[in-house]
Amino acid sequence: MARWFKWAMGLTLALSLLTAPFSNSLPTNAQTKSIDPIFEISIAQLHLRLMPQEEPEVETEDLPPQQRVEQVNCKVEKCIALTFDDGPSEHTLGILKSLHKQGAKATFFAIGLQLRLHPEIAREVVLQGHELGGHSYSHRKLQFLSKEELVNDFNYVAKLLELATDTRPSIFRPPYGEYDDDVLEVAKLPMVLWSVDPKDWLTKDPDETYQRVIAAAHPGAIVVMHDNLGSTRHALPRILKTLKKQGYKFVTVSELLGPLASGKIYKAGPDGKQ
Ligand SMILES: [Zn+2]
Repeated sequence: MARWFKWAMGLTLALSLLTAPFSNSLPTNAQTKSIDPIFEISIAQLHLRLMPQEEPEVETEDLPPQQRVEQVNCKVEKCIALTFDDGPSEHTLGILKSLHKQGAKATFFAIGLQLRLHPEIAREVVLQGHELGGHSYSHRKLQFLSKEELVNDFNYVAKLLELATDTRPSIFRPPYGEYDDDVLEVAKLPMVLWSVDPKDWLTKDPDETYQRVIAAAHPGAIVVMHDNLGSTRHALPRILKTLKKQGYKFVTVSELLGPLASGKIYKAGPDGKQ
C-alpha cells in the first residue's frame, strides 16, 4: 500500500472517530481542563495513538491465546483470585507468562494513563483469558473529584479499555481502595477490593511479597498486588507454585464471586467449604 494512501486512511479514520457517537463520551478539552492537564491531548491524537501499529511494540508470539478449559466451582473448590493493579506496564507480560505457565487466571485493574502507553499489553491480558477492569485515569483519590470529574474519569477509562480490548469494563477498583457514595453511584459497576494485601508496593522485595502472600492466603481470598513492580513479577512464580501445591485454583474475580452487582462492594469470595 502506498504510504500516502495509508496516511490518508489514517486521517479519514481519525476524522470519522471524531464524529462517531462515542466521541460524545470522551472528555473534550473544555470539559476536562479541571481534571488533568494530560486530558488536553486532542481526541484525534488519542485515536491515532491507539490505532494499530504496523509493527507491534511487544512480541507476544510465544504466548498463544489461552482459554480456560476446566470449569472451577469456587463454592466447593479452594479458589484464590490474584489481582494486579496500576498496569499495564513493562512487567505485565512477564506476569502473564508466569500465569500461563501454571494455567492460572487473574484479574488486572488498569490505569488510564498506562492504557494509553500500552494498549497492546491490555489486549494481551484479555486474549490470555484474564479479567480486566478500570482503576481510574491517573490514580488520584476518587473521593476528592467532583461528580462531573468522576463521570469524565470513568467514561474515559472505559473508552480506553474498549479501544484497547474491544470490551467495556464490568468491574472496577478505586485507587487506594478509597471511595465514597458518589464513586459507587457514578461507577455503575461492581467495586472489587481485597482481603489480602502483601503491600508489595511498600517493600518492593520479592521474598517479602512471597512470604506475606503465602502467610495470609485463604480460600476465597482476593489478593492485591501490582503489575508495575519488577519485585512482584519476580515473586509470582514462587507464589503460584506454593499455592498450587496447597491445592488452590487461580481464578478471576468474576469466577470467584459469580454474578456481580453494580454498586456493591466485594472483598472476598466463598471459602470453598459449601
Ligand atoms: Zn493502584
